[in-house]
Amino acid sequence: MIVGPAGIPVPAGDRELPFNAARTTIIPAMNFKEKKVLITGGSRGIGEATARALAQAGAAVAISYRTHEQKTQDVISSLPGKGHRMIQADVSIPDDCRRLVEETVAGFGRLDVLVNNAGVYFEHPIDQIGFEDWQAAWRRILAVNLIGAANLCYHAAQHMIRQRAGRIINVSSRGAFRGEPSSMAYGASKAGLNSLSQSLARALAPYNVFVGVVAPGFVETDMTKEMLKGAAGEAIKQQSPLGRVAKPEEVAYAIMMFAAEGAEFMTGGIIDVNGASYLRS
Ligand code: NAP
Repeated sequence: MIVGPAGIPVPAGDRELPFNAARTTIIPAMNFKEKKVLITGGSRGIGEATARALAQAGAAVAISYRTHEQKTQDVISSLPGKGHRMIQADVSIPDDCRRLVEETVAGFGRLDVLVNNAGVYFEHPIDQIGFEDWQAAWRRILAVNLIGAANLCYHAAQHMIRQRAGRIINVSSRGAFRGEPSSMAYGASKAGLNSLSQSLARALAPYNVFVGVVAPGFVETDMTKEMLKGAAGEAIKQQSPLGRVAKPEEVAYAIMMFAAEGAEFMTGGIIDVNGASYLRS
């Protein structure tokens, strides 16, 4: 008799877990050889980790950055494989979105995967700021996180529709579901991104173009560095029963899942990467 951790006998049917190759459907490997990928905001954080993971799996990666040219250059030159490129673009500027996709397609000859990762977060508490600042916060956050992503989806979709193939993965946030009391425009931008992605999934599936959303909780990046310090940071870590926040590589893994062969029927889905800190069903 096999006994589980709580001293309870394990039912016979579960004894072969966790893995029985004979019973398991073969999942196509996460192989991105020959795939051409564009990742926005790949100079650091989640975008950088995603670029590394996809390059490791064989993809040629184009990384967009807004300001950190040298840092992006360092990322590009440290990626495994060949043919990676960097392109400066501010995704809040519509014409930069058009140029970013065009330069990627011109350089690679095609575009297989778009990862809309670039994003901004800052606080604009409703009980502490004036109306001018409130409006400026909404304009800035929506321009980058939602309208920028929508514009990139538009331009990427034009190529993917012609190719009859493509993947779009949008990086959202737990805040879309849980609420963001100090950064309401951020929460709304990510809720909007979820809705945009689901509409795109329905519109683009007939063209063999599939769309997924990854919604992280707190992740160890520059965006959260200050928030994760001290007692307040410890409290954030304890929101998860794992007692920590995510590493960028863990978010990259979920992005790769959506981008991989075999994930087609997951289109329109949202993967939470929040260490069970906020559960929804
Ligand atoms: P990060 O370390 O702050 O990096 C943000 C990236 O976005 C940088 O590469 C930055 O480029 C780029 N970016 C910002 N504004 C841009 C603009 N206007 N045009 C083009 N690029 C721009 O952020 P992160 O933590 O990796 O976050 C990546 C994504 O995950 C974001 O969408 C964020 O909302 C989401 N997310 C993060 C967390 C978290 O806890 N970190 C949680 C949930 C969701 P430069 O370096 O050139 O400025």
